[in-house]
Amino acid sequence: MTLPRHLYKALGDIVGQANISDDPAVLDSYRYSLAHTAIHLGPYYDTFTPRGAAVLLPGTTEEVQAIVRLCNQHTIRFKASSTFWSAQGYPSEDDTLQLDMRRMDRILEIDEKNMYAVIEPGVIGATLQAEAMKAGLNAHLPGSGCSCSILATATSYFGSGPSNLYGGWQYDNLLGIEWVLPTGDLFRTGSLGSGCGWFCGEGPGPSMKGVARGFLGAKGAMGVFTQCAVKLFAWPGPPTLPVEGIVPAYRTPLPRNFRAYTVAFPTWKAWADAAYLIWETGIGYLAHRQYTMFGRDLKFAMVKILTDPTKTLGDLEEILEDPQVQRVTEESKRDFQIVLAGMTTRDVEWQEKAFDEILARTGGWKVEAMNEPEINQWMLLYLIRLGHKNLNLVFGGSYDGAFGLVGPADYGTTYAEEAAEFKKEWEKRGAVVQAGGDCMMGPIGGMGGGGTCLWENFTCFDPYDRESVDGTREFFDACTQLGLERGWGVGMEKWNAQARGPDGRTTPKAERDRIHLSSPQPSAFRYQHKIREALNPNNLGDEYYETLED
Ligand SMILES: Cc1cc2nc3c(=O)[nH]c(=O)nc-3n(C[C@H](O)[C@H](O)[C@H](O)COP(=O)(O)OP(=O)(O)OC[C@H]3O[C@@H](n4cnc5c(N)ncnc54)[C@H](O)[C@@H]3O)c2cc1C
Repeated sequence: MTLPRHLYKALGDIVGQANISDDPAVLDSYRYSLAHTAIHLGPYYDTFTPRGAAVLLPGTTEEVQAIVRLCNQHTIRFKASSTFWSAQGYPSEDDTLQLDMRRMDRILEIDEKNMYAVIEPGVIGATLQAEAMKAGLNAHLPGSGCSCSILATATSYFGSGPSNLYGGWQYDNLLGIEWVLPTGDLFRTGSLGSGCGWFCGEGPGPSMKGVARGFLGAKGAMGVFTQCAVKLFAWPGPPTLPVEGIVPAYRTPLPRNFRAYTVAFPTWKAWADAAYLIWETGIGYLAHRQYTMFGRDLKFAMVKILTDPTKTLGDLEEILEDPQVQRVTEESKRDFQIVLAGMTTRDVEWQEKAFDEILARTGGWKVEAMNEPEINQWMLLYLIRLGHKNLNLVFGGSYDGAFGLVGPADYGTTYAEEAAEFKKEWEKRGAVVQAGGDCMMGPIGGMGGGGTCLWENFTCFDPYDRESVDGTREFFDACTQLGLERGWGVGMEKWNAQARGPDGRTTPKAERDRIHLSSPQPSAFRYQHKIREALNPNNLGDEYYETLED
């Protein structure tokens, strides 16, 4: 359907004619290929999300309200997205209005004393972090990288990453929110709603932060978030990171109060014990199992390539022949990366002693070859800034995660080897990149100071090759089957299957209900149904906000 001219004009009057388009060429650039990394869905060859009715770029909260009110008057679906990194930010139904929030890109305030920033949707991680560092503060960036919107993950999605350990999750960090409800009314949560500023996301009364976010974020299905405050945390480094090196091997010298290591362990139990001891001791600034996303067999060779500007992927096979590379690869099977940051040099010296004691108690070791200056200076910048996320896609052009065991350190480590072996067998069939089975990436500590870990088994494939795409999906189906048999539950390979089906459109209700009824806690989706009825009476979102009728 083309949007009726009078509605197109009315919308154009709200945002200005330069900020609206229904040109088919523009609209097609706002569709998402489900053969690509659709994030926990598919992949489906040659399938795209439906074309929107128009795309609008609002510039103010008032404009967003006016758009949403018009949508309610004419029962038009709408979906906002800020940096558009995955299929969940794109419509599931024809004729949806797409709100591209990039014009609202101001950092409105950095409150140094109370350690928070007030931001609009278009503020990306790199910008917020650079500004925060000037004030001796830092922001948690989602693992998807510094080009992603901070508001999008804080209000509407997930956001695991290396700084979870010290900086918490985005939903921990979310303070006051300015929320254009699905009806167009404006709602301000927590202290903001009481006229007391942005410092608290909760109260008085029940948690509206919980209502706004729902189960893993409302993913654009419950109105539009136009501003929010996020908690910042201490940055004991320089106001700007001096960047050296030749693209893409950028690196930054380690400040005197920083240490950066790759460590490895003789067993998964030792790995888990070390995680608990790190949390108990209260050390560490960033911690992540990051390089393993390249695969157990390939990670050190990839690090060699990425830190040497004269090397390319074409050198991979030759580098893998090198006996030193083979030794380090073997040595760092069960590894993770960790950055210690001291508030003073004495502090970092103490942290290092404590960390050495943890390694001694668990039998772990620092992987010396990974601690060469050109590698650990690169690693510091990589983990802090997360500016290398194109590398997720480097092998075949696409990836998605399998299993995604989430839980305490000794939960995932109990099953990690089995999940790795299972993938390794499937890799032999040729559809997905052969990387060693264990490509499990994730944070060490899913909340400030400890908590859960995540083991997302990266599965790389070629989105332009039908056999590779179909073979990947077959592998994901097998993962789900195994997860159910082993009691791990449905893995992240199917997290969004209840929202969108193989045709790129909303999953039929009967299938959605089946999925929700078979989940461990269907009542969560029943509550969300009631919330949707109350706040979104015309149901102008999509099924990424998961609901189940009584
Ligand atoms: C290569 C790659 C690597 C990734 N790695 C990680 C990782 O390590 N850790 C992790 O947690 N995730 C990871 N992801 C998933 C990632 O978190 C999400 O895909 C990403 O955060 C969402 O993209 P975005 O930040 O561009 O937000 P968007 O796509 O803009 O939005 C995310 C969701 O929020 C909604 N939304 C956005 N802005 C608004 C708004 N103003 N109001 C209302 N709703 C809004 C959108 O509709 C969408 O559903 C990865 C994704 C990719 C593609």
